[in-house]
Formats: sequence, C-alpha cells, structure tokens
Amino acid sequence: MIVSMKRFATKAEIESVCERIRDFGYKIHAIEGEERVVIGVVGVGDVTACLESLEAMECVEKAMRISAPYKFVSKEFRRTRTIIRIHGGVEIGGDEFVVMAGPCSVESEKQIMESAEAVARSGATVLRGGAFKPRTSPYDFQGMAEEGLKLLRKAREATGLAIVTEVMSDNDVALVAEYADIMQVGARNMQNFALLKTLGKCGRAVMLKRGMSSTIKELLMSAEYIVAHGNPNVILCERGIRTFETATRNTCDIAAVPVLNELTHLPVVLDPSHATGKRSLVPALSRAAVAVGSDGLIVEAHPCPEKAISDGAQSLHLDEFDRMMRDLKGYIALWKEARQAMAATV
Ligand code: PEP
Ligand code: MN
Repeated sequence: MIVSMKRFATKAEIESVCERIRDFGYKIHAIEGEERVVIGVVGVGDVTACLESLEAMECVEKAMRISAPYKFVSKEFRRTRTIIRIHGGVEIGGDEFVVMAGPCSVESEKQIMESAEAVARSGATVLRGGAFKPRTSPYDFQGMAEEGLKLLRKAREATGLAIVTEVMSDNDVALVAEYADIMQVGARNMQNFALLKTLGKCGRAVMLKRGMSSTIKELLMSAEYIVAHGNPNVILCERGIRTFETATRNTCDIAAVPVLNELTHLPVVLDPSHATGKRSLVPALSRAAVAVGSDGLIVEAHPCPEKAISDGAQSLHLDEFDRMMRDLKGYIALWKEARQAMAATV
C-alpha cells in the first residue's frame, strides 16, 4: 500500500497517519519526500478497511493498493500452471487442449445420449448440459433438475466422458456434486458469494464463468473466494460481456484469455457459443481461442438445434461440431508446440 499525504502535511499529521496504519497491523516501510510525503506500507491485514480509514483522514491525499487484491490465484503466489485432473484422465491446464461440448440443456434421454456419443466421437472429452438452467424469464424452461443429472450420469457411463453442469444455488451443491465432474457457475452467479464459499468446500473442480458485466479483476476475486475456502481446482471461462454492440449476443473479450494467462496460474477456457449467440460464428472464435492460448473450449452442440429448448441459434449441429473439430486439428497441433516450448522455458 502507498499513502500519499496532502502537500505540506505537518509532522503531527504524518505521525497520526502512521499510527493509524500500525493500528491495522501494518509496518511503515519508508517515508519519502519533503513537500509531498509518501508513506510505503507493508504487511498483511484488512487492506480495504485500512484504505478506507486512511482516505477518510483530512491530511491524506490518496491511499492506494499496490499488490493485486487476489492472492492465491495470482501468478505471484504460484508460478507453475494449475493442472486440474478429472474423470477419464482428462487434464485441464495441461498439455492437451480440452473440448467440452453438448447441448445447452438436458432435454431428454435420447437427446443427451445422442449428443454425448457424437461429441465423444468427434474428440470432446467433457460433456456439457444444464440440468438447472438460469433463465432470464421465470416462465422459461428451468431445467430437468435431478432427473437431468441422472441422464448425464447415464451418458457418462456410456461414453466415458466427464460431466460439466451448472449449479445455481448453494443448496444444490451437494446434489450436483454427486453427478458432476466439473461444477459450472454461470455468468449470472459469478458473484453469488454464498455459492462460491460452498464450492470452496465441495472438493469438485469448478468452472467459473465471467459475469456479463464483470471485470477481469472481479472474475479473479470470485475465483479467489473458491480457492481461499479450500478448493484450488478452478477453471475460468470467458463467455462474452455486455457492450453496446448488438450484432452478437455478447461481445467476446478475446483478450481476456491472454490477460488472464498473465495474471493467474488457473486454466482458462472460452465459450464461443454464449460469446456470439450465433452458430455460424462459433468455428472462427474457436480457432481464435486456440490461437490466443486458451486451455480449452466449451461449446454448445445439439442433435437438432432447431428444436432445442434453449440456445438453439448458437448450438452447432452435431455434424458441424465434428467438422469444426477436424478443422481445429492443425491449430491444436501448433498450440501443443507452443505449450511445450513454454514448459521448456519455465
Ligand atoms: C450456459 O452455459 O448454458 C449458460 C447459461 O451460460 P452463461 O452462464 O455463460 O450465460
Ligand atoms: Mn446455453
């Protein structure tokens, strides 16, 4: 923390600020400047409370935090990348580009089994499908709940795919954890702190989607909640943010992937389906995800998108998904080379 005093602050005022800083358990590292004194502060404590208290003092010009407000998820805390190992030997954040695919919602046994078999054949290793759906309208389909989870289990047993599915409430964490290999936190719940804390204690990997109006810092702070409560297995997901642009459902912040890779050791995946809202745009953004160094993709694909209960317009047909996977192969080969080169330099 750095505290800048107002010009010509008196010795007594400087001392009163130092005293306040010490009251919060911090140490004064250095006091510099004559006209405008700047106080360097080090130590561990409640930074937010200390900053607010100092800024409330008349003689203080500005109090600023220097280190990142998130600790466990930052690169400073851990230099090596986090690799998350789940069912079927799937590793997220490792040497394989991981593709998670499936319908937006679990709708029926036939629909989820057909999706699972097809996406597995095309090379996906994780099946997606929502059993609890966060819908903007309370009158829209809310998901099949536990019945949907049971169908996901069936598909997992039949194909060997791992399962990623959304959990919307802390009350449902124990139930969803019985079926899911990765617990998905949806964009609308990124700052549901009760849910994040419970997921911190649940022991299953978590995929945290970026809130539609959230900054990268806020996304990392939400991840910090989960890690600080005991669960280091967090995957971050860029899924587009809300901007003035209307040509796409959301605006894909493709730069978020390399930005996150600079700031955190956690794996990062991209969701080109929610980021665009249009199936025709999904392959291009998937290529972009590989190129910018994402650890994987989560893509919506459906046996018959025209009949999908949710997100049909952005869901690929299963044969389109297959073609996209084939087209991605060359890009993924380059991705692997880049990963190996990176590993060799660490
Ligand atoms: C979803 O994955 O189907 C979903 C609802 O995503 P998001 O939370 O990103 O809107
Ligand atoms: Mn969806």
